Amino acid sequence: MARVAVVTGGTRGIGAAISKMLNDSGYKVAAVYGRSDAAAKAFRDETGIAVYRWDVAKFPECEAGIAQVTKDLGPVDVLVNNAGITRDGTLHKMDADQWQEVLDTNLGSCFNMSRAVIDSMRERNFGRIINIGSINGQAGQYGQVNYAAAKSGIHGFTKALAMEGAAKGITVNAIAPGYVDTDMVRAVPPNVLEKIVARIPVGRLGHAEDIARGVLFLVADEAGFITGTTLSINGGQHMY
Ligand code: NDP
Repeated sequence: MARVAVVTGGTRGIGAAISKMLNDSGYKVAAVYGRSDAAAKAFRDETGIAVYRWDVAKFPECEAGIAQVTKDLGPVDVLVNNAGITRDGTLHKMDADQWQEVLDTNLGSCFNMSRAVIDSMRERNFGRIINIGSINGQAGQYGQVNYAAAKSGIHGFTKALAMEGAAKGITVNAIAPGYVDTDMVRAVPPNVLEKIVARIPVGRLGHAEDIARGVLFLVADEAGFITGTTLSINGGQHMY
């Protein structure tokens, strides 16, 4: 029977590529989004993939959302915690809301979503959880103490949960993308982006599909011996 996969931030950017690749590979996919109704509708119409709107930063919404997906598609086998935001600024200009929003959306969401699926995965002795970190969580980045802290936290979260899930057939891994050509990176000023690309040995930005390919590899039934690791997909920009 087809495995059920939930992809947060699954209707745009990297998440959309992950949703599509899983769907094309036979998974039943639920793509979760936060605010962009028009993009979600266009994505659903184009792909036929089921879309769900909830805020991954809010625990009760994640619980209710997962209950609905379970009712519609079946128990969740694969969770991809991909939703993320940036609210950049140097620390001396950053306000507490900028800090909290980024922590809640990027890192708190990993707790909220994983907590909502873990009991069912444990009962069924199978689960695949992928957390999307970032090169900037590994290496740090000017103007991103909030984002770098949240993404760095994802890597610790991944290792600890991997230990807890191992005996129950649940693997937990992270992917740390480098700079990928999505709306998030298009928001970077062109002169800054030019300098970033110059530092990528492969000589280009990543494509969303480069990241999706990593997800597909890690969620396979056959990947049960790979857990607690971080797959860096960054064109050689940072070798961790
Ligand atoms: P985009 O900004 O293109 O898309 C972000 C997605 O997350 C959207 O689908 C958005 O939905 C969703 N989202 C944001 N906040 C919430 C929320 N509170 N609840 C539910 N969904 C939410 O980002 P990317 O595709 O570029 O990035 C995807 C992931 O990859 C992020 O975690 C990012 O940090 C990480 N990453 C990206 C890199 C890059 O170069 N692009 C590099 C390294 C890491 P909606 O618009 O509907 O709110």
